Amino acid sequence: MSSKVYFVNLRARTNQSNKISKIRNLFEQAGFGDLIQPDDLTAIKLHFGERGSDGFISPVFVRQVVDKVKEKGAKPFLTDTNTLYSGSRHNAVDHILTALEHGFDYTVTGAPLIIADGLRSANITEVPINKKHFSKVKLAKDIVSADSVIVLSHFKGHEMAGFGGAIKNLAMGGAPAVGKKEQHATKFFVDHAKCVGCGKCSVVCPEKAVAVNEKKATIASAKCIGCGECLTVCPVKAIGMDWETDLADMLERMTEYGYGFAKTHESRIGYINFLVNITPDCDCVPWSDAPIVPDIGFLASTDPVAIDQASYDLVNTQFGFSASLLSCNHEAGADKFQGLRSHVDGTVQLRHGEEIGMGSRDYELIPL
Ligand code: SF4
Ligand code: SF4
Repeated sequence: MSSKVYFVNLRARTNQSNKISKIRNLFEQAGFGDLIQPDDLTAIKLHFGERGSDGFISPVFVRQVVDKVKEKGAKPFLTDTNTLYSGSRHNAVDHILTALEHGFDYTVTGAPLIIADGLRSANITEVPINKKHFSKVKLAKDIVSADSVIVLSHFKGHEMAGFGGAIKNLAMGGAPAVGKKEQHATKFFVDHAKCVGCGKCSVVCPEKAVAVNEKKATIASAKCIGCGECLTVCPVKAIGMDWETDLADMLERMTEYGYGFAKTHESRIGYINFLVNITPDCDCVPWSDAPIVPDIGFLASTDPVAIDQASYDLVNTQFGFSASLLSCNHEAGADKFQGLRSHVDGTVQLRHGEEIGMGSRDYELIPL
């Protein structure tokens, strides 16, 4: 059965058709008001962006969702989880400071910030799922404890996942460090024929798993947690993994974590994807590269698989920007994510999500 996905484009000539109005209308038309009860503690799950990134969802857009939740008599809070790797969001103090620097302040958004897995990622609860890779998943307790959830996702490319949307936001974004580690569980190696010994991988590795000797890096597999940080910074793409088997398995594990999060709230969870500033990388990297396609619009659905499938398809209908990281597949209809990274098949998220009952790849796009 197809799932409804509501869509607004970005054309605007009046104050009734500006982006603010469009987000509020999208929330109403998608029926998100019915997901929320008076006095709910409503989690608004989003990504505050790593320091140096500016691709995250605008706090002004977030404010519209906060206001709509408040209109239902609920108490919204903005939330995310700490990162596995070192950086500006590795513990709750650094994480909140980074969020404030990015404008997620009460005076802007109208909602307080709660880092759902606690000060040092120890606020955890287990959720049974009984799927292919996991019988249970470890999630951030304060997201699971929320009465209702609105998941706001910036849709964009991703080094290891192919693309990042609602499923990835639920999965990595809903898990404490130990849960993120279970999803990654992938080993990396260095191709010495390509390595130029710059040492960038060694600097970012949170586990000190990389040693650089005689201008060649080596990864100690016993220490590596598979976070992929080194992969993101290597300038010559010398770091690899078994893309066929390991990566597909990683994406399936990730999807099962997303399923676990979605399952905890059943009919009390809604998703909005923001198809603007569609960068090649996720907002976890401390930069935001030029977008690969034009801005498209906003989507809303109660089905995380359908909204990601629709987002993926809408991106691919666009002409790609030649002055971006996209080096091929620029024509409308060509797969932009394969054009970015032909070795990564992000659609595993969609396939496995449908297989395990998380949602449907079949959708009805409803323009508003
Ligand atoms: S070697 Fe790379 S993937 Fe492994 S822990 Fe270090 S940064 Fe993460
Ligand atoms: S970042 Fe890449 S090129 Fe630089 S040392 Fe590491 S593997 Fe070698």
